[in-house]
Amino acid sequence: MSEQFDAIIIGAGQSGPFLAAKLAGAGKKVALIEKEHLGGTCVNDGCTPTKTLVASARAAWSARHAAEFGVVLKGPVTVDMKAVKARKDKVVGASVKSLTDWIGSLKTLEYIKDVGSFVSTTEVKAGKRTLTSRQIFINAGATASVPDWPGINSVPYLTNTSMMNIDTLPSHLIIAGASYIGLEFAQMYARFGSKVTVIERGPRPASREDEDISAAIRDILEAEGVSFLFNTTIEAVAKAGHGVLLSLKSGERRSSVEGSHFLVALGRTPNSASLNLEAAGIETDERGYIPVDDHLRTKVKGIWAMGDINGRGAFTHTSYNDFEIVADNVLDGGRRSIAKRVPVYGLFIDPPLGRIGMSETEVRKSGKKALMAIMPMSKVSRAKERGETQGLMKVLVDAQSKEILGAAILGIGGDEIVHSLLQLMVAGTPYTTMMQTVHIHPTVTELIPTLLADLKPLQ
Ligand SMILES: Cc1cc2nc3c(=O)[nH]c(=O)nc-3n(C[C@H](O)[C@H](O)[C@H](O)COP(=O)(O)OP(=O)(O)OC[C@H]3O[C@@H](n4cnc5c(N)ncnc54)[C@H](O)[C@@H]3O)c2cc1C
Repeated sequence: MSEQFDAIIIGAGQSGPFLAAKLAGAGKKVALIEKEHLGGTCVNDGCTPTKTLVASARAAWSARHAAEFGVVLKGPVTVDMKAVKARKDKVVGASVKSLTDWIGSLKTLEYIKDVGSFVSTTEVKAGKRTLTSRQIFINAGATASVPDWPGINSVPYLTNTSMMNIDTLPSHLIIAGASYIGLEFAQMYARFGSKVTVIERGPRPASREDEDISAAIRDILEAEGVSFLFNTTIEAVAKAGHGVLLSLKSGERRSSVEGSHFLVALGRTPNSASLNLEAAGIETDERGYIPVDDHLRTKVKGIWAMGDINGRGAFTHTSYNDFEIVADNVLDGGRRSIAKRVPVYGLFIDPPLGRIGMSETEVRKSGKKALMAIMPMSKVSRAKERGETQGLMKVLVDAQSKEILGAAILGIGGDEIVHSLLQLMVAGTPYTTMMQTVHIHPTVTELIPTLLADLKPLQ
């Protein structure tokens, strides 16, 4: 027999639990179906644990560089990987517990730990139970993509999920993929003391970024001992002693590399396969994403898709924003949409990259008349005082309206500082307003007016 609910949510990532709580708070009878753990990727094997590990890696880096600041530490700096993992587990555990306690406290919300799959447009199976609702919300997220290289299943390869169990120091960590996840792990493990090799089929790291940003990222990581093999593909994978042997191809040249550990960081695959979407009449696109309109509605009335699985964002903040939009529209009769959402994200190497809006490449492609300014971080007093002068700041503005089109800040505090430009951009405030504002000295942000004063037409 089918059990009736006001709303069913499949997947407890970064929008599902919040929507479930909001609906339950409004007195709705809600089922939240999650097959693994509350909080999804971000809390369990994404943002929270990686940034906790980045913090440990930063502490190791600071200790090794202490003498440069006149601080004397006796003996060599070593990293206790068991303690690093224990700290990470504690932070993650506290986050999951607070989410679990909150969800558990909501009287009309039932948390069902099982796989949810569609039976029809209004019915979902969870284990032996069949649930019915006229409103179903999918927040099933994505998982690490693993190519079917010959031999891959015969080796103990790692993904962002299994990396979370590592409590010993890899002697040589090989990472496939020089994008955001791969780069964060690369610097982190180099700082912990591993030899790190990154294999990338393209010519540069973070290929979505402008070439000068990629080059600066490469400099930062290479200066810390990370080795890159660009324009290189993996042909096969095999076991070698206690580790992994990769057969590589670069142009016509063939080679191999052997490592103790092998992390696959080659993007994410949406978790659409387990949902039995056909039963609801929903088709995915060719990459497995569920198409939605700007209000996050699928083509089937009464079914929404939020978070990474809709292919309209790949971040915690986009998933959470999806929740806010859907909640407003469903509960409060709103008409909010993602149509004007400004792309924003960070790359949490150290120093971090904060990115908003369009890149220089995108502005050039768009044909817009624009102005651009670039400043190396070596010109920023704050960076000099901190002894961290790597990176650069770049800003692009519309030549006519003087509004911000996009910015990249790769440097100390870049992930935070870029928000000052984001606020201008969203408010449609001309950049000249920021130039007339007094900023705190000595900060990185105080140099943004100086950066803006140097805007020149994009040739
Ligand atoms: C290593 C790493 C680092 C990252 N760092 C950042 C960062 O710093 N900042 C940032 O903004 N983003 C980061 N991300 C991305 C971020 O984690 C995701 O964008 C975010 O978690 C949003 O995901 P989501 O809400 O779509 O679902 P997810 O968090 O992926 O959760 C989906 C949930 O659905 C469940 N599920 C799937 N199928 C079913 C089913 N059939 N039935 C029941 N349950 C199901 C899964 O078990 C999972 O718990 C990172 C990702 C990774 C991998």
